[in-house]
Amino acid sequence: MNFRGFLPSSFNEWEGRVAAVVFTGGCNWRCAYCHGARLVTEFATLPEIAPEKITATLRQKRDWLDGIVITGGEPTLQPDLIEFIRELRALPLPVKLSTNGSQPAVVAKLLAEKLPTCLSFDYKAPPDERLARLAGIAAAEVAAVRESYDLARHAAPENAPEIEFHTTLCPRYVNREILAAMARELTCPRALWILQQYENDVEMLDAKTAGTDRYPREELDALAAVARREHANVLLRYGK
Ligand code: SF4
Repeated sequence: MNFRGFLPSSFNEWEGRVAAVVFTGGCNWRCAYCHGARLVTEFATLPEIAPEKITATLRQKRDWLDGIVITGGEPTLQPDLIEFIRELRALPLPVKLSTNGSQPAVVAKLLAEKLPTCLSFDYKAPPDERLARLAGIAAAEVAAVRESYDLARHAAPENAPEIEFHTTLCPRYVNREILAAMARELTCPRALWILQQYENDVEMLDAKTAGTDRYPREELDALAAVARREHANVLLRYGK
């Protein structure tokens, strides 16, 4: 595993849980408003953290933690991800895996082995040319994302008890019309759909996107209402 960041505890990464967070280095996408820019393009400059060090810390702290979140970068690119999650589950600790959905073969294996307690998708745009444009990927690659969504949507609840979709409400890329299309696409009633305010004051992959306007609170409420027309289980985070 190529770990480039570790938070021993956080209240923000898993709704209702205190969780440790590990960050993997490297990603196959280039989303303009990516907040983990350094983890995507400059991860080699960050110190590498040995997996044994992380599991040792988690073993010590497991009584105070409700779980661990594996995020990135893109964790499903790591060849030993499945083995690492097996170790975490054996501690035992609940595991949430965040992914962009680009590796359906990994998602299929995770679900078949009932490994993630929660599978969380970064749901940026409808899975069509709009996602390709935003993520800087080829249109053909979007089919893989749709396949990952389908695997999660059709997974038996005992294989992945929690499914999440996360959408950042960045005005440049998400408006009411696009969010309505995403809501129609979701079709997974048991998933929690988290809508979050776009944080515009952090480092981003695309310098032109950094600092662009955010939606005011009233528009965030209006967008959440659009999402709730199709999907009951929506959580809106207003952010800072
Ligand atoms: S936001 Fe996009 S570029 Fe950044 S880590 Fe997630 S998928 Fe990769």
